[in-house]
Amino acid sequence: MRADYQPLRPQKPLLVNRDSETPPASFKIKDVTIGDGSPVIIAGPCSIESADQIDKIARFISRSGAKILRGGAFKPRTSPYSFQGLREEGLTLFSEIAERYNLVTITEVPDTNKVDLVYQYTDIFQVGSRNMQNFELLKAIGETDKHVLLKRGFMSTLEELLLAAEHIASKGNERIILCERGIRTFEKWTRNTLDISAVPILKNTSRLPVIVDISHSTGRRDIALPIARASLAAGADGLMIEVHNNPDAALSDSRQQLSFDQFSELMQGIEPFLKQARQN
Ligand code: PEP
Ligand code: MN
Repeated sequence: MRADYQPLRPQKPLLVNRDSETPPASFKIKDVTIGDGSPVIIAGPCSIESADQIDKIARFISRSGAKILRGGAFKPRTSPYSFQGLREEGLTLFSEIAERYNLVTITEVPDTNKVDLVYQYTDIFQVGSRNMQNFELLKAIGETDKHVLLKRGFMSTLEELLLAAEHIASKGNERIILCERGIRTFEKWTRNTLDISAVPILKNTSRLPVIVDISHSTGRRDIALPIARASLAAGADGLMIEVHNNPDAALSDSRQQLSFDQFSELMQGIEPFLKQARQN
């Protein structure tokens, strides 16, 4: 490698990079703005499981101050025998119920041939960690006008994340939100290792908003509050948090989803951080 190699400063500036002429991006999606200094809370179950489940969760999180509802209909599971998601039926429930509570929606688009389908049902596309370098998917999303939350691959560097974002931007869609969701390390006491330094580095290097997924990064609920606080203190534009009406019975990621009481406690615990950010 050349001594003067500067991966994020190629000769032609990257579209997602931050420089003096391109101020930080903020995106208004319905009534919600992401990246304006006031952190947003994205909450909801790991998977959309039923109308009743989504309704209960959507009602609860909207009353607790979350503005964006998450939930997967196409679930990327390690085992083919685990719950795979309700697919289009799940998307229909999700969008109908979110509208009832005036929530913006985010759900994962699993591959190129689902882009048109998922487009009809969600406000924000999610590109999952396992798809961060699915370049055909990134380009297909780049050809749409929909906002996209791009999750960091669990074995990807920050440079690779920004270049994945660049694939989307290079096709014309610059409505990109980055998400740190933990990377794989030797540590076993967390599901992944949250790379907190990713937050200020991405904020300083790119002009895109940065969200921290406190659920998939840690895989545990007992440290949700300090991790949420650390993420906001590091400058995150928002948090993604898995919440379930009955976590122990959840069809996926049951160990990390917060119960309603735990979510309320978390929202109370981060309130001073949210207030401070609003004042700045
Ligand atoms: C998810 O958010 O539903 C998910 C599967 O997360 P990740 O892609 O980060 O593993
Ligand atoms: Mn999950």
